[in-house]
Parts: sequence; C-alpha cells; structure tokens
Amino acid sequence: MNPVLYDKKVTCPVCNLTFHTKKVRTSTIRIKKRDTDFCIYYEGENPLFYEVFACPNCGYAALEKVFDDITPSQKQLIQSKISKQWVQRDLGQARTVQEAIEVYKLALLCSEVLNQKKDRLGLICLRLAWWYRYLEDKENEKIFLKHAVNCFEDAFRFGAGTNGRLVDDIMLLYLLGELNRRLGRYEEAVAWFNRTISQPGIQTRKKIEEQAREQWRLAKEAYRKIKEDGGEEK
Ligand SMILES: [Zn+2]
Repeated sequence: MNPVLYDKKVTCPVCNLTFHTKKVRTSTIRIKKRDTDFCIYYEGENPLFYEVFACPNCGYAALEKVFDDITPSQKQLIQSKISKQWVQRDLGQARTVQEAIEVYKLALLCSEVLNQKKDRLGLICLRLAWWYRYLEDKENEKIFLKHAVNCFEDAFRFGAGTNGRLVDDIMLLYLLGELNRRLGRYEEAVAWFNRTISQPGIQTRKKIEEQAREQWRLAKEAYRKIKEDGGEEK
C-alpha cells in the first residue's frame, strides 16, 4: 500500500462506470511555499494534481468539486463531442506533472464543451499555468495565465451571482490584479487591486487585503519605472 496515495471510488455521471482514482492522504500533505497567485509548492505529492477526476471509459473529466454537476443534455454533449473520439485509458494512477497537465487539459476541454461557468475554466487554466511554472516553461505558463485572466474577467463581469461559483468576487478581483501584474500589464493590475481593496466585505479577508495592498505597491512601482524609462507596457 502506498502510504501517501490511496484509491478513491468514483462513479462517472456520464456513463455510470465505477472507477478508481488516486488521492493524496491529507495527513501527508506538506506545503513548502506559496506564490502570490496561490501556486503552492509541496514536499512530495501534490494533492492538486489529483483534483481532476477523469473517467477511463468515456473521457469525461472535471474538477472533483463539480464532477457530478452535469445535466442530462450536458451528458449527451460529452457523449457526442468527447466519448466518440475517446480512446479508453486509465488516468487515475499516480500523476507526474506532465500527466497532471494532460488530465487538466482534458478537464478544460470538457468544461469548454459544456460551456461551464467561466470561473471554473479560469481555475483550470490557472492551475495549468502553475504546472508549466513547475517545469519552468515560461511560454506555456504565460499562455495559460492569459486564458485565466480572460475567463476570470468574464466571470466577474458577466457572472450572474456567485451561485455555484468556485471562486468568489474578492478572490477573482485579487487574481485579476496579480495575474495581470505577472503578465507585465501593470496599469490593469493596479486597477484590479484597487477594486479588490474597495470591495465590500474585504475587511473580513485580512490576508487577501494585505496581500492586495502589497502587490498593488509592486505593480504601481513597476508601472512608474516603465513610464520613467519611456518604455511600453507589455
Ligand atoms: Zn464515463
């Protein structure tokens, strides 16, 4: 028995197959450090790699939290757009970062086919950016950070209420600030951090508030420097 990973039994809501997928034992999780966009580095196994469940039979994949959140008409969409081309295989074993990228991309594809809430797509894209960051693949990291920004912007602007959302408004606003900052779009970053700090309820989220103020300062400084150097923003 692997002391770190265990098998979780899951039933696919699309094809009804019961399969096993690995999860990390909570007691073994050790956090090494965290980036300012909440990318976490772990000692040993990364539990986030296992937060996507993927059915080996029909190819349906989704974040664990919303895996069962699928309507009958959406099931048909998965069957016609994913399952028909799916070559059966087991994605529920121990995952390397490459395999995590693969399974998250499958979840992203399913999420797009199902036209799911933008915050879900954004979260999957953000995590893909992190997996590329682990690999020091800056080009792909940037591609997925940009996708995440677009999805989070849509989620914030057009999201009808926070019902069923995986990311709440304060977190969305903070991430929009921080991801824009990481992409070198300092003026946008400052504007989103300003909105984060002035959001109702921010007083109850001290940690994010502090972090938003600190990152606002960094973005502001970087923006000023570009202006002084006469350079252009990216
Ligand atoms: Zn299935």
